Amino acid sequence: MLIVAGILLFFSALVYYFSYESQLAKFRQSLFDRAKNTATLLINVEEVDSSLLEKIQRSTISWYSEEVVLTDSAYNLLYGYNSRILSDTKVLSENASGQIKYFSVSGKDGVFYRHNFRNSTYNVYAMAFDRSRFANLSDLRKILLWSIIFSVLFSVLLSYFFATRAMKPISKIIRTVKEINSLKLNSRLDEGKKKDEIEQLSVTFNELLSDLETAFRNQEDFVSNASHELRTPLSVMIVESDYFLSHNRTKEEYVKHVEGLVRDLKNMNSLINSLLELARLNRDQSIGFTLIRLDEIVFTAIQIIKEKYRNRKILPKITYPENGSELVISGNSGMLEIAFRNLLDNACKFSDSYIEVEFTITDDFIIINVSDHGIGIPVNEIETIREPFKRASNVRFIGGFGIGLSLVTRVMELHSAELKISSRINEGSRFEMKFPRIKEQRKNGENID
Ligand code: ADP
Repeated sequence: MLIVAGILLFFSALVYYFSYESQLAKFRQSLFDRAKNTATLLINVEEVDSSLLEKIQRSTISWYSEEVVLTDSAYNLLYGYNSRILSDTKVLSENASGQIKYFSVSGKDGVFYRHNFRNSTYNVYAMAFDRSRFANLSDLRKILLWSIIFSVLFSVLLSYFFATRAMKPISKIIRTVKEINSLKLNSRLDEGKKKDEIEQLSVTFNELLSDLETAFRNQEDFVSNASHELRTPLSVMIVESDYFLSHNRTKEEYVKHVEGLVRDLKNMNSLINSLLELARLNRDQSIGFTLIRLDEIVFTAIQIIKEKYRNRKILPKITYPENGSELVISGNSGMLEIAFRNLLDNACKFSDSYIEVEFTITDDFIIINVSDHGIGIPVNEIETIREPFKRASNVRFIGGFGIGLSLVTRVMELHSAELKISSRINEGSRFEMKFPRIKEQRKNGENID
């Protein structure tokens, strides 16, 4: 409303100013004509004398309170018609400058004109009220004022109408969004035809809601799975211990029972550690990265696994490049070691024969394959096997919690590496990790051994 009013005011001021200027100019021109005619008739035309001219002017008078005065150069009055303001010699002398001068006294417009005839100079003055100009301008003022008032009111009504229409979908979105909370994450906004910006906003918001819902459900599943995994062994331990304490036992029986408890507690401890590691990986985006050699980390992991599975053959297959720096990536050695350890541990746990760890270096990637010849994963379960607590249907009688692979997946994500799983039931599994190589090193062949 203020903008419209401002524009209209500016426009009206322009109209008023130019209309005032043009009417004033016209009136001044007429006054000048009157002054010049007076001088020409009175001075140049011998047949016309003062009384004749006065008679003519009285009969042709056209403006309100018109005055005409003609003096010689010393302001001595030669002719005067209706002179009031112009009877004052001070007014006459003050305004006699140049050839023509326009002036105004007490709201009356006047003109001075210097008339030359046969080496004599005469001062001619004409003055009058321009009543029609004042009336016209007053009408114009009223017209402009009412136009502004009506236009502003009209614009307010129109803006209100269109603004409410334009805001309607937004108000609807606000209402729906207000109703959404963590318990109602399945609500969605109306996407309409998915065309205008508001509908696009709804589409984007719905996508965000879907992501949130999935994340929320995953979190809920994760918490309930974790509680279940922790509660089951605890309940078993409590029930067993209660039963054990209900009778007198021999020393050997006590030792056996405590050994069983320690074994279960160790299992629980390793589960809790894995859970904490996974939670840390999911939370912490700012894990420190340094330049590290992948082969060194893999060999450390192999060493650790070999201590656990003493008689197992783990065969590394690597053709060392001329420049050791070709095996360098930017990464976190601690996290990578956890990942390799988990993969090698699984390979040992789910197979009986040897395990291969193969390195391939291409222009863009360092690829590491961990393959075994064990029980494999059913084809239809490969896709979901990386989710937390997922275990394949063929490993029910082999210990584990289903956390290791989710850890590996997260570590790979943090290193922008791809993890591919291929497996055939009872033939074996293959885990392929594809690490992107550092660009500058590829270019410079820099040595980081
Ligand atoms: P866990 O080993 O404790 O069961 P993981 O998250 O490490 O948990 O693995 C999830 C599941 O993936 C395993 O239960 C198993 O079904 C399958 N899996 C992983 N590695 C192998 C492998 N090398 N061979 C066969 N199955 C595997």
